[in-house]
Amino acid sequence: NAKNHRLESHANYHPSMQAETERRLELIRNLRQAFAQQQLELWYQPQVELSSGRVVGAEALLRWPQSDGSFISPSIFIPLAEYSGLILEIGHWVLEQACMTMRAIESEVSADFRMAVNVSVPQFRQKNFANEILGVMRNHQVDPQRLEIEITESIVMDDPNLVVKVLNQLKSYGVRVAIDDFGVGFSSLSYVQRLPLDKLKIDREFVRSAHTTSGAVVIESIVNMGHRLGLQTLAEGIETEQQAKYFDELRVGQAQGYLYAKPMSLVAFKDFIEQRKGLAV
Ligand code: C2E
Ligand code: MG
Ligand code: MG
Ligand code: MG
Repeated sequence: NAKNHRLESHANYHPSMQAETERRLELIRNLRQAFAQQQLELWYQPQVELSSGRVVGAEALLRWPQSDGSFISPSIFIPLAEYSGLILEIGHWVLEQACMTMRAIESEVSADFRMAVNVSVPQFRQKNFANEILGVMRNHQVDPQRLEIEITESIVMDDPNLVVKVLNQLKSYGVRVAIDDFGVGFSSLSYVQRLPLDKLKIDREFVRSAHTTSGAVVIESIVNMGHRLGLQTLAEGIETEQQAKYFDELRVGQAQGYLYAKPMSLVAFKDFIEQRKGLAV
């Protein structure tokens, strides 16, 4: 009855939960303000071909700088941006910035270089998301072949049929699709062969466990599956030469990680590309 119900909710209620909720709302307000004041930045982390070290792409990663010089991690503010709906505007801005950067470095990079952009569930749920992407690319005169979008399991699980439709549409424009953080979720295996994917990004958690016997078993199964499904493979979070050698020997095509370069600001990234110019062919 009503009385019991009230008692029960009261029993589950903790003052710390309210404090937590208020902290989140405060963070959302600050994020909205930071975005409106153009304080968010898009940084770039190079992706390399493992066998040669050639730069074949970059992943665009959001940064929210604070006045003390620190950054709030996207793992904290992206979920809040998703929850509040702000991710739609932020995500659009990310696409625009990524396209502008792609355009700026186009003549300095190899023909197969791609800019990878992360996208969120609410973006996928919008009507005409694929057309929005195409529109942004046209406005900035960037060939859709230059774009790769990174989707996660949460996007797939949200509405698998819609996702297949949107991905097929994107692919018909020439946009590539990578599945991010692959293997972390429980349902990865059930959808990987049903989606029109181009690339499988092996999550950093697996890369960290590569030196253990059980870790290697899991990694080698994932890589083997990627190869047999005809997908490109990329190892995330490569930090040591040993890891690079291990994945190269497994014939994983690409890598991304601190061993090669950390995510960097637009200015630093342009310098990086400029310095690599001769090597990037
Ligand atoms: P992600 O897409 O899996 O991005 C890779 C993360 O691994 C990045 O964290 C990157 O800085 C980090 N990383 C790369 N190499 C190494 C390494 O060698 N060692 C270590 N320890 N870390 C490495 P970051 O930048 O903090 O981003 C976290 C997550 O936030 C991203 O994970 C992505 O899911 C999300 N995110 C970032 N930018 C965007 C965005 O523009 N849109 C959306 N929807 N999500 C974003
Ligand atoms: Mg990513
Ligand atoms: Mg990832
Ligand atoms: Mg991740």
